[in-house]
Amino acid sequence: RLNRLRARLVKSNSILGKGLLALLSSDKIDENVWDEVEETLLLADLGTEPTMQLVDALRARVKVQGTRSPEDVKALLREELIKLVDPTMDRSLNVERKGAHPAIMIVVGVNGVGKTTTVGKLARVLVAEDKDVLLGAADTFRAAAAEQLATWGQRVGVATVRSHVVGADPASVAYEAVKSGIEQEVDVVMIDTAGRLQNKVGLMDELSKVKRVIEKLAEVDEVLLVLDATTGQNGLNQAKVFSEVVNITGIVLTKLDGTAKGGIVVAIQKALGVPVKLVGLGEGPDDLAPFEAEAFVDALLN
Ligand code: GDP
Repeated sequence: RLNRLRARLVKSNSILGKGLLALLSSDKIDENVWDEVEETLLLADLGTEPTMQLVDALRARVKVQGTRSPEDVKALLREELIKLVDPTMDRSLNVERKGAHPAIMIVVGVNGVGKTTTVGKLARVLVAEDKDVLLGAADTFRAAAAEQLATWGQRVGVATVRSHVVGADPASVAYEAVKSGIEQEVDVVMIDTAGRLQNKVGLMDELSKVKRVIEKLAEVDEVLLVLDATTGQNGLNQAKVFSEVVNITGIVLTKLDGTAKGGIVVAIQKALGVPVKLVGLGEGPDDLAPFEAEAFVDALLN
């Protein structure tokens, strides 16, 4: 898996890994080099504060150790990056049945970030773990959305609760899905939601209603916010908007295969205080991986 992650993160490599290592391998690590290190980290979307923190820590440690060897500096950089990505965060998914109830998961995010694809990929992972999964298509605004989710469902062998009426009440579809999930005694119900941010107030009202209505039947265990890694700061802004309405329990960062800006992981976790739990590394059914701090940093620095 690590090798796959490495292969998929080649683009991130070119900025963060190779760029930084080249800089830190120079004969003389002077002010200019540190400035360039800073620039590189900022370019990789690490965010201002984490960048300063990393560079300060690294400078101090290089100084204390009096080292110039690229291997030593690389090891220090690796350690400091891992600290920033935070290996202590709990990244496990809440997908266990609790007594008579399935685990309930809501997946939120702006249109086009990869929500439906993520639900499909994750359903596949859960099915492979022998779990019974039911999908709910609460994005009733676009006819194609429910269709796309149902297609993923068929592909991975799970049923999808949906309405065939465009513009049907998303909350009632979500309610039906959870109700069916309880009746059918499935392990996990995953609800895909709409993400039209053009009408921010409408969307947020809709989301909170979906959640409220589900909670009449069962507790919501996991609210995953899906963000597109290629959108940088935009993703951060979306995250803030969503976190005002729902209590986000984890982030899925998609399209990491298409960006040189892997540093956004750190920026988002810092801003929200919520762990990145999964990463999307492509469009295929297998292209979803659990996020692990050390493996991620190793992939970046490879
Ligand atoms: P939604 O509107 O949020 O439900 O987004 P979709 O699931 O429809 O995905 C939008 C587009 O992004 C589709 O073309 C997906 O195939 C693509 N996509 C989703 N996840 C990834 C990923 O991790 N990497 C890449 N390269 N493409 C992705």
